[in-house]
Amino acid sequence: MTTDHPQQFDTACIHAGQHPDRLFGGVSVPIYQSSTFAFANAEEGAARFSGRQEGYKYTRLGNPTTAALEACVAELEGGGIGLATASGMAAVSTAYMALLGQGAHAVSTASVYGPSRTLLEREFARFGVAADFVDTSSLDRLQAALKPNTRLVYLETPANPTLSVTDIAEASRLAHGVGAVVVVDNTFCSPMLQKPLDLGADVVLHSMTKFLNGHSDVVAGILVTRDRNLATRLKNVLVQMGGTIDPHQAWLVLRGVKTLALRVRAGQDNAARLATELTRHPMVATVTYPGLATHPQYELAKKQMTGPGAMISFELKGGVEAGRMLMDSVHLATLAVSLGGIETLIQHPASMTHASVARESRQAAGITDGLVRLSVGCEAYDDLHRDLFSALDGIQQKMAGGEAEAGLNVNV
Ligand SMILES: *Cc1c(COP(=O)(O)O)cnc(C)c1O
Repeated sequence: MTTDHPQQFDTACIHAGQHPDRLFGGVSVPIYQSSTFAFANAEEGAARFSGRQEGYKYTRLGNPTTAALEACVAELEGGGIGLATASGMAAVSTAYMALLGQGAHAVSTASVYGPSRTLLEREFARFGVAADFVDTSSLDRLQAALKPNTRLVYLETPANPTLSVTDIAEASRLAHGVGAVVVVDNTFCSPMLQKPLDLGADVVLHSMTKFLNGHSDVVAGILVTRDRNLATRLKNVLVQMGGTIDPHQAWLVLRGVKTLALRVRAGQDNAARLATELTRHPMVATVTYPGLATHPQYELAKKQMTGPGAMISFELKGGVEAGRMLMDSVHLATLAVSLGGIETLIQHPASMTHASVARESRQAAGITDGLVRLSVGCEAYDDLHRDLFSALDGIQQKMAGGEAEAGLNVNV
């Protein structure tokens, strides 16, 4: 059970890792847009490179603006060492590269972010890494997939886009039993709603492109761990592979994080109301949202997360065709991949975010062809409701009309 102290979390979003600048007192952390840092003399340069003296040397190895962001997000995750990356996938690939090698085995949640799966399946396989993708919301299936050489258990919860929830504490216990490192992709929740490190995970990562930055204007990622050795291992791989963040990008995320609590709360309030309303619409076959009592892991979500979040998946009666019509009939909700921004986005995983995953694997992971994913933003609820429900009503009329013309008796 995580503890939620909203005021403290809200405060940390604004202040953690930041203090007025020492030179002029600037309240906003300065953007140190410099690739390299001058040394006072040869001795100082040598001391910094040998580690005898703290200080910056070269931006790929560390930068003051980046460090402020890393300290901030690490604190939001409940403490640890943060490593900011150029994208969410740079965080994912750094974790894989640091933890896996020839002969190693990985177990991953089946319905993870598409590229997180294909990277393991296609690229790491070339280096002798084996991987199994299982429904980790079933601890029995996770347990059955673990092997003596399992080095990594990679969890995404709620998963993308099925929103199935994995028990992080129990999964970590099982994984640690075979000596595997547990990495949790916490992008869907942000640290506001879930703290995987408190639940027993070893590493948490984010696509900061999503909720942490929150404005659909930056691509970035981060890794956080409380284990010093793991942090060193991850940092060595990150700076050598070169997936580090640019200071200007880091500053933009730092600015976005300040309103994280406000944004997540507003999006979640809208999502909870929309999810309930969606279940009542005759065109809707199923709604998956961790805040609905019909969600398969409703109780677990309530225990593990401090709120159900702003992501909804749903399936229309009429399958892919109806889903396509919906995406083409909404006006306020924007048809785009990505999530976690202040604006509401709608997308079709089977043809967009998960198109790279083989159809059979998608089906096995519960990503049906008719599934629609909604990332609910901070717009006024009434406007969102009007947009979505007038589109649904329109489709209902069109389909009923079409089927009546064909002489069919439909009941959508
Ligand atoms: C977007 C996303 C990623 C990848 O992040 P990028 O910033 O696009 O590289 C990884 N995991 C999840 C859950 C995501 O939504």
